[in-house]
Amino acid sequence: MKIAVMRERVGGEPRVAATPETIAKLIGFGATVSVEKGAGEASRILDQFYTDAGAKVEASAAAAVKGADVVLAVRRPEASALAGAAKGALVLATADPFGNEAALAALAKAGVSIFAMELMPRITRAQVMDILSSQANLAGYQAVIEASMVYDRALPMMMTAAGTVRAAKVFVMGAGVAGLQAIATAKRLGAAVSATDVRAAAGEQVESLGAKFIMTEALKDASGTGGYARELTKDEQAAQAELVSGHIAKQDIVVTTALIPGRPAPKLITKAMVESMAPGSVLVDLAAERGGNIELTVPGQTIVHKDVTIIGLLNLQGKIAATASQLYSKNLLAFLETMIDKDAKGLKVDWEDELVKGTLLTRDGAVVHPNFAGAADAAPADKKAPAKATAKAPAKTAATGKTAATKAAPKAESKPTAKTGASGKGRAAKVATAGAVSVPAEDKPVAKPAAKSAAAKSAPAGTSAPKAPATKKPATKTAAARKPAAKSTAAKKPAAKNPAAKKTDGDV
Ligand code: NAD
Repeated sequence: MKIAVMRERVGGEPRVAATPETIAKLIGFGATVSVEKGAGEASRILDQFYTDAGAKVEASAAAAVKGADVVLAVRRPEASALAGAAKGALVLATADPFGNEAALAALAKAGVSIFAMELMPRITRAQVMDILSSQANLAGYQAVIEASMVYDRALPMMMTAAGTVRAAKVFVMGAGVAGLQAIATAKRLGAAVSATDVRAAAGEQVESLGAKFIMTEALKDASGTGGYARELTKDEQAAQAELVSGHIAKQDIVVTTALIPGRPAPKLITKAMVESMAPGSVLVDLAAERGGNIELTVPGQTIVHKDVTIIGLLNLQGKIAATASQLYSKNLLAFLETMIDKDAKGLKVDWEDELVKGTLLTRDGAVVHPNFAGAADAAPADKKAPAKATAKAPAKTAATGKTAATKAAPKAESKPTAKTGASGKGRAAKVATAGAVSVPAEDKPVAKPAAKSAAAKSAPAGTSAPKAPATKKPATKTAAARKPAAKSTAAKKPAAKNPAAKKTDGDV
């Protein structure tokens, strides 16, 4: 059983799919492991570390992949790069299948079985394999760190001989995995934190982290299926906007993470709301890869609009690649382990396992996932799927979360000081930094792609929807809720009986 780890080639991706720790485990299961030279460098893993763990470092991708039974990757490898792999090799990656039917067809033709890790059913057994959670958690953390770097004031309250400095006010919109970790991080840094979500259940989680939960009374609960949010009605949107606009004007830092399965990111913060904030305020839009929650967001860039900074960088977890790789690699290891017979020291895939069925895209020369099968057959293998199909499926796209907006986003190399039209009329927004990689890795699967995409056409209604898990982990077990912050004094405060009914007050 040979396992190959390739150097990532797309979008300047700094993460790597295996660490010395996971490789040592795989060798313990009877595998031989080949790693392409330099694969871990951007995650601070030197070739020598892989060698020390028992892997063979190869000079080229072709040499690493030659005869491999399993290939581990962060992003979907090109079919051509897998040419030398063993027939029927298993490929574990964030496969980004939505809108990429041609690439899927090419992978099928190459004879590999590729698993889209981002389609992993969100059931208890698979939590350890959930790349969406592990990476969103880090993105939520990094969002606050990025904001704190730009914000030119201190975050905690400071009582000094020279006077008292008030705590910065941080507001988090969307209290899912990323949002809860953003809350926990801002609390640890001493900020006065408030948050909102459209799911009433999020209220207790927010308050367990010591933050204030705000929600309009007009919106009782907009929970959809599987613990995710549903899209708001026009009236609900108006009520939320009213609540938010008053609150945002008083905030120093805002982190937005709001997403709805199968839809573009909801626009929650208008240009006028941004302009209501004090000079020096900072917003981080973690939904940038799906078009953004903020009207002014430029995906992939940081802009300054009227002295307010809006960070729309993508793949924020890639900014802490060493940590992100560590967790991502563990997710892959945990899944691969279910497909290894440790006694026989070889692969033994249970093709009927719901985790396998939920993630497997191609097998035996065909695209087999029910959401993509027909579309891939129709797609010419040498061409990308039509742009229109992709553009129509902007929301919960797969692994790299490439939305139309993302794809249209200026390249990461764009000049840091270039002007953009993001500010609309009036002063042009300044592009402050553009250091992010151009393609985000973190995204969510959709119940099915938008209706007009080729894939959607092929997806029978009600086919297995990875975004709608049959079994959900209890609310209190979200990644962020398990963080140390939850144990802080603040976190011990009893949660409000009815957090959903709370309104903003002027404190935070
Ligand atoms: P997500 O990325 O789909 O969305 C982020 C957050 O945005 C959600 O909390 C959503 O309610 C919120 N949101 C949507 N529209 C909004 C609006 N207009 N205003 C404010 N907020 C809005 O969510 P996620 O982080 O993937 O997690 C969502 C749920 O999935 C949570 O309940 C979480 O506990 C659950 N989850 C389960 C598992 C598992 O079972 N293994 C793993 C991870 C997350």
